[in-house]
Amino acid sequence: MADTIFGKIVRGEIPADKLHEDEHCIAIRDIHPRAPVHLLVIPKKPIPRLVDAQPEDQALLGHLMLVARQLAEDHGVGNSFRLLVNNGEGAGQTVFHLHLHILGNDKYSEADMAG
Ligand code: AMP
Repeated sequence: MADTIFGKIVRGEIPADKLHEDEHCIAIRDIHPRAPVHLLVIPKKPIPRLVDAQPEDQALLGHLMLVARQLAEDHGVGNSFRLLVNNGEGAGQTVFHLHLHILGNDKYSEADMAG
C-alpha cells in the first residue's frame, strides 16, 4: 500500500501538532483551512478510502465520529459543524489515508471542498 503524508504523521516521522491522540486515531489542524475551524481526524490504521473500510472497521469508524464530536465541542463549534469525507479522486480526495474533515463556523457551500 502506498504511504501517505498522514501515515508519516501518524508514525511521528513528520512532526505535527496533534490536537488529540489515542490508541486508534489522531487529530490535527488542516494545513489549508477552508473554514474558521478545520480539523482532520485520522485513523492510525491506513485505510485508503472510506470504501476500503471493512466490516471489522465498524467500531473504528464510530470512534472517529465520536472523537470528531468531542473535538468540535472543544474548539467551540459543537453546535455548528460539518463532518466530511472525500472518497476518491473524483470527489476531491487528495490524501489516500482515510480522514474526517471537521468544518466549523463555515457557511454551507456545495463547492467549497471540491478541490
Ligand atoms: P482530502 O482532499 O479530503 O484528501 O483532504 C486532504 C486534506 O489534507 C487537505 O484539506 C489538505 O489541506 C490537508 N493536508 C495535506 N497535508 C497536510 C499536512 N501535512 N498537515 C495538515 N493537513 C494537511
